[in-house]
Amino acid sequence: MSFPELGLSEGVLRAVAEAGYEHPTPIQKQAIPQILMGRDVLGCAQTGTGKTAGFTLPMIDILSQGRAKARMPRSLILEPTRELAAQVEQNFETYGKYSRLTTALLIGGVSFTEQEKKLDRGVDVLIATPGRLLDHFERGKVLMNDVGFLVIDEADRMLDMGFIPDVERIVGLITRSHQTLFFSATMPAEIRRLADRFLRDPKEISVTPPASVAETVEQAMGVIEPRDKRAALRAILRTQVVKNALLFCNRKRDVGVLHRSLTRHGYNAGALHGDLEQWQRMETLDRFKSGDIQLLVCSDVAARGLDIAAVSHVFNFDVPTHPEDYVHRIGRTGRAGRQGHAFTLATPDDGKYIAAIEKLIGTRIPRVEIEEIAAAEFGEETKKSKRRGARRKPAGQKTSEAPSRTRDARRKDQGGKRDSRRRRDRIEDAPDYGDTPFGETDQVPAFLRRSTG
Ligand code: AMP
Repeated sequence: MSFPELGLSEGVLRAVAEAGYEHPTPIQKQAIPQILMGRDVLGCAQTGTGKTAGFTLPMIDILSQGRAKARMPRSLILEPTRELAAQVEQNFETYGKYSRLTTALLIGGVSFTEQEKKLDRGVDVLIATPGRLLDHFERGKVLMNDVGFLVIDEADRMLDMGFIPDVERIVGLITRSHQTLFFSATMPAEIRRLADRFLRDPKEISVTPPASVAETVEQAMGVIEPRDKRAALRAILRTQVVKNALLFCNRKRDVGVLHRSLTRHGYNAGALHGDLEQWQRMETLDRFKSGDIQLLVCSDVAARGLDIAAVSHVFNFDVPTHPEDYVHRIGRTGRAGRQGHAFTLATPDDGKYIAAIEKLIGTRIPRVEIEEIAAAEFGEETKKSKRRGARRKPAGQKTSEAPSRTRDARRKDQGGKRDSRRRRDRIEDAPDYGDTPFGETDQVPAFLRRSTG
């Protein structure tokens, strides 16, 4: 099925063609005709499947007739994070360039005044995070009476972030009968119950089995003492060809710690977490997208659904405690048919989390000896400096030194090692070594194999 067969208008088809899309993705093929017919949709789809265009394209056509009244948006899209909301707005800009729809973005971290001005002028598409929308509602700046189209996106993430009561309240404020689209990457029982409440006779669409991992992502995992994680990561970064990478930490505090550590060691790194100002998050994201920042350390919330097409690597600096997060994290690489790489740094205590992840994804993540990949680049610090001096790059091996590392930075790296070891020892407790049956190693995946030249 081609785009013209989906029933979309001329203007939308032209915008899609200009965006360079040749064929609709599976979710677009299935969802767009149903949405255009006015049907509710329950979509089980991850980001990266083209689901955003799957709902924005038909919405543009459905809303093309009619006018918005002041403070009474005609449609509402709820997103769990500001970044996702901003990306949806961008989608409307791209695909709606031949239509005259007005959009407004209600997200935290930006001034109320600008947002209120837009609302006053009347908006066709309101894209919001639940908390900020309720703030505006309580100030009497927005009314839900005219919402005839509702999208609840990333419902499982809304649940994780504790937003469901807000979402329920918002849905309760919509008095008109409305068409509803409900998307979630996973469908746990709680999400299904919500979907049953919000949707009427929905068309159910599932584009990949729940929580499946793209085949284009090559996965690997190394088991390592917590205190050696940062050194291990640096060793991997030095020995692999990492074009750009997202590095996930479980806690915001650790995002800052890892970011500072990488910067101190001369890497070109940025950080993304929920405590940063909105403009800082946007700026960092833009710099990462443009290639100005090579390594982006982030928390799950900040990185959820980021639409960055060509991320070469994802590193789980911490094993996620919710198995679904593993799927979301590594889904940031290997997008749109490109090859991606995902490396997880596990500690001996992470066995139960790894077991849950492997149960969910239905496969075993290949184990590797980190020493094998990194050629014993980490370990005892003094030995390491000597070894590095003596090490020769085997013939034909691609260079993988972070592009931004200067000689000065490397010198500083050597000098700062003892300090950083001391700091590291202060920050992290000694690990509790137990049996590590989950850590038995497999064959080193191709992307981690060093040529032995
Ligand atoms: P999403 O799942 O909405 O996050 O979209 C993932 C990526 O796929 C985005 O970069 C879109 O621009 C891109 N995309 C959406 N639809 C198509 C399509 N039909 N063909 C190629 N790329 C697409």
